[in-house]
Amino acid sequence: MADPRAPIFEKVALIGLGLIGSSIARGARAYGAATRIAASDVSEQVRARVRELGIADETTADLAEAVTGADLVILCVPVGACGEVARVIAPHLAPGAVLSDVGSVKGAIVAQVAPHVPASAHFIPAHPIAGTEYSGPDAGFATLFQNRWCILTPQDGFDGEAVKKLSAFWTRLGANVETMSATHHDLVLAVTSHLPHLIAYNIVGTAADLEEVTQSEVIKFSASGFRDFTRIAASDPTMWRDIFLNNKDAVLEMLGRFDEDLTALRRMIRTGDGDGLFALFTRTRAIRRSIIEQGQDTAAPDFGRSAPREEEAVPP
Ligand code: NAP
Repeated sequence: MADPRAPIFEKVALIGLGLIGSSIARGARAYGAATRIAASDVSEQVRARVRELGIADETTADLAEAVTGADLVILCVPVGACGEVARVIAPHLAPGAVLSDVGSVKGAIVAQVAPHVPASAHFIPAHPIAGTEYSGPDAGFATLFQNRWCILTPQDGFDGEAVKKLSAFWTRLGANVETMSATHHDLVLAVTSHLPHLIAYNIVGTAADLEEVTQSEVIKFSASGFRDFTRIAASDPTMWRDIFLNNKDAVLEMLGRFDEDLTALRRMIRTGDGDGLFALFTRTRAIRRSIIEQGQDTAAPDFGRSAPREEEAVPP
């Protein structure tokens, strides 16, 4: 019987060593998912920090060098950079290599990456639903993916063995893996992640522009709800710009529905429909309870987003 603790891939090449890439590097090492980890990042500062942290076996600016001989390559760069990175690395991918990514949008990544992938490699898009509002190699930690979902969006008729191997990798890092189409992924994430971020960016912007309430009052009395929005609105601007530009249709569709519901809420307030407001808030409270029951958050008021410490890593 195969050793359940044996490395799943020999050489994993990670492109982009920010929050997600550095967490994969740490997790792959902590849980023995890879024999060797190669790291490549466009930023000299990031590469130097990765060397200092000692979270990869080799660090290089040369994308071709990083992916040469790798049996798993994961693009951990902003969504808008994936196509260009794929174009550069494509001729250097080993036959049989699995090429994946972690982008928060899937349809646009498939459109930008797939045309470059040689027939000898297996392209399996992925999205770990895990993160914090922090960026860069210092923000990562090995347990980031523990008990979080990782969605794979393989194209129809795709090699089942390669999908199984990539699923095993994410499972070793502690994630629960689910498979769906890229289009469905983008619709689900538009409502669970992209729309909430848009609302947070908007409400924080609105508060910042108010003339009747001073900035110091907004900060001073932020605990009454505003604070949790500021946490989300502190997320990386490059990443979120790319998400909205690359998941335009699904976000606009969800925004349309949101507008309709907001109009209904406005009417309830205007007409003094207390029963209507009470019924809605009761329904939304139940959704919050089921998220906690399913282990996707804690009841703590920080929305469970504060990073666990590295030493809390527990092998799955
Ligand atoms: P991050 O912390 O900003 O890291 C991205 C890294 O990629 C940075 O070091 C960046 O360098 C580097 N980079 C940018 N363009 C590059 C290129 N062409 N070649 C090589 N390196 C390049 O971002 P992140 O939060 O890890 O996000 C990375 C990906 O994960 C995104 O696609 C995002 O959609 C996805 N994701 C994020 C989260 C989250 O909560 N953060 C969750 C799930 C998935 P510079 O800083 O110099 O640009």
